[in-house]
Amino acid sequence: MELIGSYWWKGAALSVLLVGCDNGANRAAEEPVVIAPEPEEPVLSEPDWGYSGDIGPENWASLDEGYAACSQGVEQSPIDVDVSTPPSRVPAITPDYSETPLVIFNNGRTIEVEVHEGDSLTVGDNQWDVVQFHFHANSEHTFDGAAYDLEMHVVHADEAGNLAVLGVVIEPGDHNASLDAIFNNLPRELSSPTQITGVTVNLAEVLPEELAAWRYSGSLTTPPCSEDVAWHVLSTPIEASLEQIGAFEGIFDDNYRPTQALNEREVDGVHWGYEPANGPDVWGDLSPYYESCRSGQEQSPIDIASMIDTPLAPVIEIDYGSTPLVIFNNGHTVEVEHEEGSRLAVGGNEWEVLQFHFHAASEHTLDASNERMEMHIVHRNADGGLAVLGAFIEEGMFNPDLEPVFANLPREEGDPTLVAGQMVNLSWILPMDLSAWRYNGSLTTPPCTEGVRWHVLKTPIQASASQIALFETVFDNNYRPTQALNDRML
Ligand SMILES: [Zn+2]
Ligand SMILES: [Zn+2]
Repeated sequence: MELIGSYWWKGAALSVLLVGCDNGANRAAEEPVVIAPEPEEPVLSEPDWGYSGDIGPENWASLDEGYAACSQGVEQSPIDVDVSTPPSRVPAITPDYSETPLVIFNNGRTIEVEVHEGDSLTVGDNQWDVVQFHFHANSEHTFDGAAYDLEMHVVHADEAGNLAVLGVVIEPGDHNASLDAIFNNLPRELSSPTQITGVTVNLAEVLPEELAAWRYSGSLTTPPCSEDVAWHVLSTPIEASLEQIGAFEGIFDDNYRPTQALNEREVDGVHWGYEPANGPDVWGDLSPYYESCRSGQEQSPIDIASMIDTPLAPVIEIDYGSTPLVIFNNGHTVEVEHEEGSRLAVGGNEWEVLQFHFHAASEHTLDASNERMEMHIVHRNADGGLAVLGAFIEEGMFNPDLEPVFANLPREEGDPTLVAGQMVNLSWILPMDLSAWRYNGSLTTPPCTEGVRWHVLKTPIQASASQIALFETVFDNNYRPTQALNDRML
């Protein structure tokens, strides 16, 4: 992003309005109104920097003392976005943008459009005023290493000077009429902000409908590379025709900063859970990546009619070995990572155990009734297909085979940790009788991906009241309600 031009512009705003009022209606459309910067303002007197050679991004910090953050900053922008992190719709990004006279200029590094005061962006409890927007080719942010053709940056500031930027990537596609006002009036040469009479632009029409974003704390992507910029990188690209993209690239085809190290930062993703505000009823609203949670037709868990007959069910064979106890609280459940080499085989298909974890109460229900808990053993085959073996846990006898897990439940969210000297063996935990209800379902947690082969054991396993109570002190409500069976059969 680029901030140059915005500060002196605030002072010039009044004169623009006057020019617009006096001349807008009568002036011929082809005759632009040029607003010169006030001479004492340092618009073009900054140390020169650019995008290649001695003045390129690698050398920005050496060009001026004030640019030190460009090399020393540890929260710099842009970054490469790991797209396996779901972009979030929460808190909602709410632009309040309106139609504005087009005031555009070429500052030597990008084409920038000034936005009149009063338009704002609200995200949760924060609100900023729009200052300007501009473009980069290629995109500055990359996504699993891949760049888009263009990226638009809408720069906002609040009264205290805090900055927020909305990043919107642009990909080749249909002609984008909402960009015509800008892309038909791109100044080829260095220029001062110029109002193009009779031409307006409306940022609200430029943005995609889907405003889910990756959010992180970063910096200006141009000198002085100042940090504490609240970045919102939209996950949905907008389209522009090759002609439109080419029009910009004909002026600037290399005005992007390379991606910077993430360092200690994390891109803020979706925070789903089991509370009303982030729970199963709204998972599908939290991120476009969670659409299956809302609209999927083969979702899990389901209610099972216990009397249902399954005469043709193939035999479930397990070949589970002991595994060192590597356990963690992932914020949604307590999970045990399983060593490689343990297998589930059903009807000629084979999967390998990845991990197992627990829900309280059970997720599947029997005749509409929950069991106290449910254990899920998650498997994957060579093609990436998932199979889950579900076992109800009812209150009964103390279960010594589960005790290594229950005696080491991590109360706080954290990374997988080896508990020295502790082994666990799933084949001892499971009942002797492995007959099961089988159906095609989904993950019971976001992203609710379908195509999961479910096997829910008919015989529950037991745990003592105190074992169950212990788990419930960590998670006592981490189950998804049952989903419609729709056209599926057990
Ligand atoms: Zn920018
Ligand atoms: Zn589960």
